[in-house]
Amino acid sequence: MQCLSTRGQAPTVDLAAALQAGLAPDGGLYVPEHLPAASPAAINADAHAGLPAVAAEVLAPFFADGPLAEALPAVCRASLDLPLPIEPIPARADGIGAAWMLELFHGPTAAFKDFAARFLAECMDRLAAPGAVRTILVATSGDTGGAVAAAFHGREAFRVRILYPDGRVSPLQAHQLGAFGGNVTAYRVAGSFDDCQRLVKGALNDPELRRRAALSTANSICIGRLLPQVAYYAYAALRLQAEAGPELQVIVPTGNLGNALACVLARELGFPIGDIWLATNANRTLPDYFERGDYVGRDGLATLANAMDVGDPSNFERLAWLYRDRDLRQARIHALSVSDDAIRARIRREYEARDLVVCPHTACAMDVLAQRRRARDRRPFLIAATAHPAKFAEVVEPLIGRPIDAPPALADLLARPSHAEPLAPQPEALARILRQDA
Ligand SMILES: *Cc1c(COP(=O)(O)O)cnc(C)c1O
Repeated sequence: MQCLSTRGQAPTVDLAAALQAGLAPDGGLYVPEHLPAASPAAINADAHAGLPAVAAEVLAPFFADGPLAEALPAVCRASLDLPLPIEPIPARADGIGAAWMLELFHGPTAAFKDFAARFLAECMDRLAAPGAVRTILVATSGDTGGAVAAAFHGREAFRVRILYPDGRVSPLQAHQLGAFGGNVTAYRVAGSFDDCQRLVKGALNDPELRRRAALSTANSICIGRLLPQVAYYAYAALRLQAEAGPELQVIVPTGNLGNALACVLARELGFPIGDIWLATNANRTLPDYFERGDYVGRDGLATLANAMDVGDPSNFERLAWLYRDRDLRQARIHALSVSDDAIRARIRREYEARDLVVCPHTACAMDVLAQRRRARDRRPFLIAATAHPAKFAEVVEPLIGRPIDAPPALADLLARPSHAEPLAPQPEALARILRQDA
């Protein structure tokens, strides 16, 4: 499969090259030249076919004719074989309609980004030139950095540099980011996530730096991150098809629009998904767009669901590209904003009413579900649960009044020492570091 840039000013490249480059040379995002005609009905998604097998089938047309075509099933087995429960959400007394939770948080860093980061690392490792070392540069609002670090940690062909907004990630996330060591370095940037993202994009767009340090990214702007996420929505839609029918609505907690875009792509490929609901925190760029029709990027506001503190979601460019010939506002995509107060109330309420403990991001999605139910929407819903609540213990524990046990992999990381370097939010400060990688 060939990929082109959303900005249309870069040469078409093969998927493997797009996956290694991250950002296209014209500053755009790589997208598949055309979407393959998938045949969901032909995919074996019975109870024995796990995500790796389904993903290998869903993604085969994208990788066809490229250097990873043959390795794809092994890549999927090595990276996507994580527990992926689809749990029914118990209805309350006032409950109407069926709902499920897609638990995407059983990987090594307890957030959905583990799937994509592991898949990308597995692909990039297989594409690495012998003896060469690439620098993976990542901006993170909290969870990406940990997932990428875990996925690339100990792989000799890579050096990982993670930029996060100082004081804007949870203490646990900060500890996790600094706890890897080895080929992973964490930088705490005096600024917002959008500042971190600008720094990363700036470095990737600097041809000299890019070449000298063999730069790549693993942000959600990389198409290698998007594809495995398409696979888990395809998998969930197929698994629930018998019970939910062809109109499974999906609610995705959204920041940079990476996870949700994957859901949109799965629907475009023909998997049985109905309306898609973007649940944002107080960052209203997307809800405002869907209400008013004008896209106005802005600085991110700090909220309790900090991995979604994004004011100018990069992947909007891909969404606009996907709907270039159609009216995006007719796309059965909706966006609702959830305030910090509503997040707190939702976490409490889910615990009290259903004994369900959710992270602040998942709480945004649960609140959107509650809003739909109040509006008498009885259709079946799938909630993407994006992180384990233990990752946000400092928010969740006081609300539910009891401690939350960290999953074992997370507990291991937390027991290690942690260190992050300070970094000024200026391109030159980052360039000095990257020149040393040359
Ligand atoms: C990254 C993240 C999100 C937002 O995902 P996007 O792909 O940026 O929209 C939501 N929840 C959690 C827990 C995350 O780590």
